[in-house]
Amino acid sequence: MNVILLGPPGSGKGTQSSYLVKKYKLNHISTGDILRTEISSGTNLGKQARKYMIEGNLVPDQLIIDMVSKKLKKFDSVLLDGFPRTLSQAEALDLEFSKLFMKINHVLYFDVPSDELIQRLSQRLSCRNCASTFIKSEKIVCNSKPCCKEPELYQREDDKPDAISIRMKNYTDLTAPLLDFYNNKNLMKKIDANESINQVSNQIDKIMQI
Ligand code: AMP
Repeated sequence: MNVILLGPPGSGKGTQSSYLVKKYKLNHISTGDILRTEISSGTNLGKQARKYMIEGNLVPDQLIIDMVSKKLKKFDSVLLDGFPRTLSQAEALDLEFSKLFMKINHVLYFDVPSDELIQRLSQRLSCRNCASTFIKSEKIVCNSKPCCKEPELYQREDDKPDAISIRMKNYTDLTAPLLDFYNNKNLMKKIDANESINQVSNQIDKIMQI
């Protein structure tokens, strides 16, 4: 099974990914996490991507498409989180999937009101070790990997106010058109992602079991 998570920044795609990967045995491809690892490892790709990411802008399509294409070749069931984010990326993904005899089973669209998104992003802390996210005021229990017994929390550069507004604009201008693209292919399923984490997981389970 191959699933795409589509939705604005802060809509909970990363949080639900951890649940879905375990439950449905999918291979998680989070382009944001891969790019952050490239940056911390000091690779060429990381160096090229960094300047776009800290401003809240999208990394150029061709860099992302090449990066994802390499990953896709390794797996036969994937959870795509944060990709595609532009029409060119969606078209490139269709092409890559057809070469690999793979198909998209579900596109899950995480719908959250924009004022709630801004609130979530500005309150968000991330763990450097495992990429889990937390709300500033909540108790921190980070147990996804042994290294996270002592989580190292930080606020992402692109979760600061100026970058948040650029990311929201980019989402509206470049990513939101994908809703029609996938709707026209009858793949789009809308999730009310303004509910609790468990309620969102339950909505997704119902769709996945169809
Ligand atoms: P995320 O962790 O998904 O919020 O992504 C963080 C940042 O990584 C984005 O704001 C972009 O700068 C970059 N990025 C992640 N995925 C993509 C993508 N599919 N296309 C272009 N840039 C991306």
